[in-house]
Order: sequence, then structure tokens, then C-alpha cells
Amino acid sequence: MLELQGIAVSPGVAIGRALVFDREGYRITRCLVAVGEDEREWQRFVDAVRQASLKLEANRQSTADKLGERIGDIFSAQLQVLSDPQLQSELESLIRKRAYSAEYAVSEVFTKYAAAFRKASSSFLSERAADIRDVERSLLEVLTGQPMETLKTIPHEAIIVSHELTPGETAGFDPEKVLGICTEAGGSGGHTAIVARGMEIPAVVGVGNFLHQIRSGDEVIIDGHLGRIIVSPDDATRDRYRERRLFRQSIATQLQEIRDLPACTSDGVRIELMANLEFPHEAASCVARGADGVGLYRTEFLYLGRDQEPTEEEHYQAYAQVVRDMQNRPVVIRTLDLGADKMGMTMLAEPENNPFLGLRSIRLSLRNPPLFRIQVRAILRAACLGDVRVMFPMITTLDELRSARFLLRSVSEDLAAEGKHIQCAVQVGMMVEVPAVVLMLDRFIDEIDFVSIGTNDLTQYTLAVDRSNESVADLYQACDPAVLRLIQRTHLIAAEKKKSTSVCGEMSNNPAYALLLVGMGIRTLSLAPAAIPILKKAIRSVTIGQCEAMAWRALRLSTAREVDAFLMNQLAGLVPEIVLQA
Ligand code: PEP
Ligand code: MG
Repeated sequence: MLELQGIAVSPGVAIGRALVFDREGYRITRCLVAVGEDEREWQRFVDAVRQASLKLEANRQSTADKLGERIGDIFSAQLQVLSDPQLQSELESLIRKRAYSAEYAVSEVFTKYAAAFRKASSSFLSERAADIRDVERSLLEVLTGQPMETLKTIPHEAIIVSHELTPGETAGFDPEKVLGICTEAGGSGGHTAIVARGMEIPAVVGVGNFLHQIRSGDEVIIDGHLGRIIVSPDDATRDRYRERRLFRQSIATQLQEIRDLPACTSDGVRIELMANLEFPHEAASCVARGADGVGLYRTEFLYLGRDQEPTEEEHYQAYAQVVRDMQNRPVVIRTLDLGADKMGMTMLAEPENNPFLGLRSIRLSLRNPPLFRIQVRAILRAACLGDVRVMFPMITTLDELRSARFLLRSVSEDLAAEGKHIQCAVQVGMMVEVPAVVLMLDRFIDEIDFVSIGTNDLTQYTLAVDRSNESVADLYQACDPAVLRLIQRTHLIAAEKKKSTSVCGEMSNNPAYALLLVGMGIRTLSLAPAAIPILKKAIRSVTIGQCEAMAWRALRLSTAREVDAFLMNQLAGLVPEIVLQA
């Protein structure tokens, strides 16, 4: 039995036989064409580009139909690679001036670009290497006339194991046949991970070199919750995971029964459970899981896989779909939080040494008024369709909040002057993610309608721990007493002015931490849609007094370890087994 650890990117447990997919199938050897053949070879290449474009466009359309326009747009980015002038001119010079065969030129140039992208220090760029390989593959399929081994026609159910999968390969999977995905390369922000999540296929990426230790047909378990891979499990491990999988299925069925019941404590205190979403097509599953609304719409995902800014109409269509699908429930649209580890930064600003402390989020939007105005126009237009609220991310100074509000007002006046129908009474909130804001919150609070605490960034900035750096992951603790004090202070200041406070960081996904937040007085939590049913179950099984007692004691502890141990112990005594096992 072999156990490996990777990055969990799509939850669920899969047990099945491995299908090891070796994509190094096209080995193009050096090949030159005869004198005078270069023009014919160039035409062959031009024709291959045309055919590959048609195929990518068809992929774009079918993926958009299955998973929504935004994920389909991954292929728009690939289409742009195909028609990139610099790439084309390099290929032309190899074919025309150096007599390379079209296949050889494509293989040389694309391999060079993919390697350069893979080495880039920014994870956004390194994860684009898979897109380049996808385009290369499409061209070589046409040029060689040999379709490469594809995963679309898998004969039986399998767990796909590969060094790397391109988004195109992942989106082409038959979810009935592909039980799980495991790759040596990749990170959580890559397109492949996002596509796997969208298709609800359990996936673990970034496992490191292990393909030499596995063969097609070996039994594999993928634990998409913990990021674990087990090859050739022993009987006890297989039985444990089978039980876990069955148990999770039965939990999901049981939780379906409370889907339409409110998240009320057993003594009747209503907690709003909102969803965090990244793509418009997820709104339907938020409703299916019983979300009270969208508490955080991460609009920067509109930039996924594109190298041109979305138009106002594209913003509007995405927001309109979410608002309509949420059927009158509130939708909090966060303005672009681009930068640092987020996608799309490359087209807007230079790489930075300390991106988390750099030109990201609201700073970037305020530095680019045309970009910011386009988004705000779309939000105000979508606000006519339902209960839309605007939220600004990573506010640090009052000047930033005022500038953002000023822009909002001016855009709203423009729209009115153009005779556009807009909603004037849109609630405006801000995220609390920077300790400075907590210290100064009494000055901010009169100028906003609500606050939402982003514990992912608040933890990073309070504890000086990079949230994406594995080597300091043990220090990254949202339950650290310093973070808890900042949350408490935020809630107290907001409550004094009768403004609502929600928590939308990952902390809310953990039932023990969520009950602590409820005990501290928070009445709105925003979390991953898949985590909503289990948290609702937890909330419905406790009294508000129990949560308050838990919070009172937790806030008197001195270290993150003590707080975590205390909360886990309390949870075990308060909630039914189903919550603990989920
Ligand atoms: C947060 O920082 O907690 C948050 C919700 O925002 P994001 O994770 O998108 O930075
Ligand atoms: Mg944040």
C-alpha cells in the first residue's frame, strides 16, 4: 500500500482502478522538408490552425452548455493562443526559413513556451502551461492525422492518473466514467482544478512524482477532502473508505430532508446561511443546497482564462444569471479582488515581489477607474433584477472607501442621465480583511450598510502568514486568539450601530468555528455551498446559550492550539454524530 499527499481541489471519495494517462504520445522527431516545399508546408500549417480553431470553438460551446459560459471561456483563451501573432511569426520563420516540417515546428515552439510558463514564479502563469499543451495537441492531431489517446472514450469506470491534465481534457471527461482525478502537477487555482470542481469529480493535484509507482489497473483511492491518494490499499483501508463513502452518501440523503427548513438554533435564533460562489452556473446548486442567498460572489473569476477584460455586457450577463437563479434571495456582489494569487493580474499590472501587500483588490480597481466603472455599471444594472448588494474588498483606509463610494455615485448618475433604469437604494458594504480597519472601524461604520469579515485575509494579515505558503501553514490559524479578538471587536462596533456583520472566510465552513462565531453574536455566515447542509444540521441541534458559553470560554484561551482543541471537544458534545463524521 502506498499513501501520498497532494492538494485537495475537489471534494469526495473515489475508489476504483487507475487509468494511467501518458500524454507524451506525440514524439515529434526532427524533420526538415525538401527545398521548394516550404510554401506547401506553410499552407498545411495554416490549414491545421483553421481546423484546430473549429475544434476549440466546438469545445468552447459544448463546455459552456455543460458548465456555463465562464468555464467555456477557457477555450476562448486557447483560441487566442492559436492566433497569437508572435507565435505565428516564430512558426512561420521555422517553416519557411529553416525548412522545418509543420509538426516539428509546432512541437519545438509549443514545448518552449509551455516550459517557460511552467517555470514562471506566479502560479497563475505556471498553470497556463496546460493550456499551451492543449493547443499544441489540437494542432498535432490535425497535422499527424492521428487522434491522440483521448480520455473521452474511456471504456470503463476509472480513476484518471496523469502527470498533468489540460482543462480541455478534464472538461471532455464523461463524469459517469471518470470516478476521480489525480495529477502529479497542478495547484488549486489551475483551470483543471476549477473544471473538476465544477463537474463534482473528486480530485487531488500537485502530488509530485509518483507515476513510476503506479500502473493502469492498480486499485486507487482518492480522498478529495484531505488531498490523499492511496495506491493498492490493504483490505482494512479499502473497507474504511468504502464505509466513509457510503456514510457520506447517506449523510447527503439525510441532510436533504432539512434543506427547506431554516437554520435556526433549537431555541429559535435564526442564522442566515449564505453561499460563496465563483461562477454563475453555481447559483442553481446554492439554491439546491438550501442557501439563504449569496454572501460573497467572487467576481474576479470572470477573468478566468482570458487575456482581455470582460465587457460591461459580459459582467452584466453573469450577474443577471446569478440574481435570477437565486430567485429573490439577496446577492452580495464583491467588486474585483484581482491581484496576488488571483487570476487576471497579468493583463492589468506588473508582477510584484510582495503581491499580497501590493496593488491588489480595491487598490487595483481604484487605480483603474475605467475598469472599475464598467463593473459598477453592470452591478447597478443587475440590481434592478433583485436584491443586489455591493461589497468592496480589502478596504484599508477611509479614503479608499470614500473613493469607491464616490465612483459608485458618479456611475449611478451617469446611468440615470443615460435614461437607464437603475436601482438607487443598493446597500453598500465592505470586507474587513485588514487589522487596520478593525482598529478604525468606528470611523468607517457610519459610511456603510454592512460589513463582511474575510477571515482568510484577516488571518494572513494579522499573523503575518502568507495564506498560500505551505511551509508556514501551521501558523495560519483562523482560531488564533488575535484573530478572534478582531472578529469580536468588529461585530461589537457594527452591532452598536445596528449594522450587520457576516463572516465569509473559509472559517465558516468548519462547524466548530461557525458555532463559535454564532456564540460571539454573528448571525450571517457565508460558506462553500457544499458545506451548507451540514452546518444547518449543526445549528439546528444547539441552543444559542450553548454557543455563547462556548464563545465565552474560547475567548479566554491564549493560543490557537488551545482554542482549536477546546472547540473540537465542545463540538463532539453538542452536535449529532452525522456532523462530526461529515
Ligand atoms: C477572505 O479573505 O476571507 C475572503 C473571503 O476573500 P478571498 O478568499 O476571496 O480573498
Ligand atoms: Mg480576501
